[in-house]
Amino acid sequence: MSERSLQLVLRLVAIFLYLGPLLVAFSVHKGNILAMVVPSREQLDRVGQKMEDLLNFSENVMQKESYRLNENGGEAVVRFANPSPYPILLENFTGYSVCKEHGYPLAWFQLKEKVKIGPGENGRLEILFYPTPGASFHVLLGHLGFWPETEVENGLMEIEMLRAKIKIRVNQHGT
Ligand SMILES: [Zn+2]
Repeated sequence: MSERSLQLVLRLVAIFLYLGPLLVAFSVHKGNILAMVVPSREQLDRVGQKMEDLLNFSENVMQKESYRLNENGGEAVVRFANPSPYPILLENFTGYSVCKEHGYPLAWFQLKEKVKIGPGENGRLEILFYPTPGASFHVLLGHLGFWPETEVENGLMEIEMLRAKIKIRVNQHGT
């Protein structure tokens, strides 16, 4: 693989916060663990914005170490640099691998197991691929049977950070 094809540049599209842990976080912060403090829409937006600022996906957060995908499925190992100044637990990473040329979904993928990554550290993500029903046919007709280069579409990362559960929509915009 060339140096360039090793990079996996993902763009943060949207960020979602789970309410449950946030309620707890807000309550503890106010020094009253029993009180159920319901954060306002404005507070949530502020926290969401803060989280987004903390998760910097603009640099090369991900590097492919290995990658294999064919009609039997496949796997990839990706080095993931924690893009925040806090420890994170990467609970899942799912999405589709689509062929770059046509955007056809060739496989669905998910994280094999959770990975804990400290601030400024790298984690190794093992990703498993499951071919879509039409994948082999598309590769045969559209790519003469050779599995093409793919990119991530509708990627969803589930991260735990600062006691909040965060879902991050990511997409790849060329490499
Ligand atoms: Zn194609």
